[in-house]
Amino acid sequence: MKVRWLRVSKVKIPKTLLMGAATAATQIEGGDYNNNWYQWSLEGKIADGGSSITACDHWNRVAEDVCLMKELSIETYRMSIEWSRIYPKKGQVSEEGINHYIDEIDLLLKHNIVPLITLHHFSSPIWIQDIGGWKNKETIGHFLNFVETVVTFLGDRVCEYGVINEPNVFANDTYMDGKYPGGENGNVFAFFKASKHLIMAHVESYQLIHKLRSEKGFKGETKVGVLNHMTHFELTTKNKLFNLTKKFIDHSFHEFYFKGMVEGILTFPYVKRRVAKKGIYADFIGVNYYTRNMISPSFDITTLFGEVHNTKGLTNENKTDLDWEIYPKGLSKVITRIYNQYHLPIYITENGIADAKDTLRKDYINKHLKEVVQLIDNGVDIQRYYYWSLLDNLEWNDGYGPRFGLIEVNYDTQVRTIRESGYRYKKIIVNREIDLD
Ligand code: BGC
Repeated sequence: MKVRWLRVSKVKIPKTLLMGAATAATQIEGGDYNNNWYQWSLEGKIADGGSSITACDHWNRVAEDVCLMKELSIETYRMSIEWSRIYPKKGQVSEEGINHYIDEIDLLLKHNIVPLITLHHFSSPIWIQDIGGWKNKETIGHFLNFVETVVTFLGDRVCEYGVINEPNVFANDTYMDGKYPGGENGNVFAFFKASKHLIMAHVESYQLIHKLRSEKGFKGETKVGVLNHMTHFELTTKNKLFNLTKKFIDHSFHEFYFKGMVEGILTFPYVKRRVAKKGIYADFIGVNYYTRNMISPSFDITTLFGEVHNTKGLTNENKTDLDWEIYPKGLSKVITRIYNQYHLPIYITENGIADAKDTLRKDYINKHLKEVVQLIDNGVDIQRYYYWSLLDNLEWNDGYGPRFGLIEVNYDTQVRTIRESGYRYKKIIVNREIDLD
């Protein structure tokens, strides 16, 4: 579809792009004592002694938060269903958990908000952690039981699922950087083993969800996607020897997971082989994009002598509170790359900024959305844009410091306040137009 450009400062957004916001259960719900992030909090692994039990108390404030979504004119909402809320103990299904999510999703539907459900977003029940988490192949079977339960109880309500959020970041932060529950440092073996299991879980879930929804005659076109973090890597050296380093890092972060999840093919360091029959195991590609990353020469053999880091020497205007470079062009680069590879519909399942003062968020959204519109204009099939995140929330091991929300949360009182940038985003959704002035 051709997009009309009004004045240079105003960019029209096509109606085919649904816009919304994303969250993840552990980061907002609070109060879950059966989750491995609770255990991790007790071990003092979250910044400033934070605990996943606090979060945004969303579990008890669903109605209020859906009202806020309405206030922001959100068209679609990406949320996750917490495995430990459905299976708090091994073999035990929680009716309370099931009913809670049914009510939440019914409320979204009542307000014409299209749900996109994530089935795994960085967290597991403690009993899964106890059997070794994703390092243990048995976890795949338990996860598939959970997927079957969820898809069955949601029935007609949900037809779009993202199976595993960012397996690349999840495996890296767990087994290489030791930042997530079960954390280990530099365990390359565990990293690839768990990644293989995550890939297998995706491919099997893809088939299972399609089979279940079709057999049970659930309404709506079933769409099951991959959700991967994408970045744009750049070398800081011109030395050609490091091209191989870049290729290896890029493969381990992108290609390994895409080949695995979309095509069902395991690649290096495994001997190339199929984990499923020839096919495509994704109906859309979910791209989570935040920034670009640099690769400098180092002595680290596990990354083939490359050190991945943020761009150095940034000013306050071009970096976020987490020191990530603001680099909108990177969104076009990563989407173009993956769209040219697979020609599958693209959902931008996360894009956002940690900006406590709310001085950069408006511009961040404008500039990234401008890239999106340009891509659509060039024929790329982008169907969704989810700002990360609806609310300020638990930024995993970094705790409650980083503020990504369109809505500010006061964690002492749980009072929510829509930020100025939140209202600007609403204006974009309502007017279907980006105002770059
Ligand atoms: C994750 C989110 C996280 C966000 C910002 C993504 O990697 O999916 O859970 O909060 O990035 O760091």
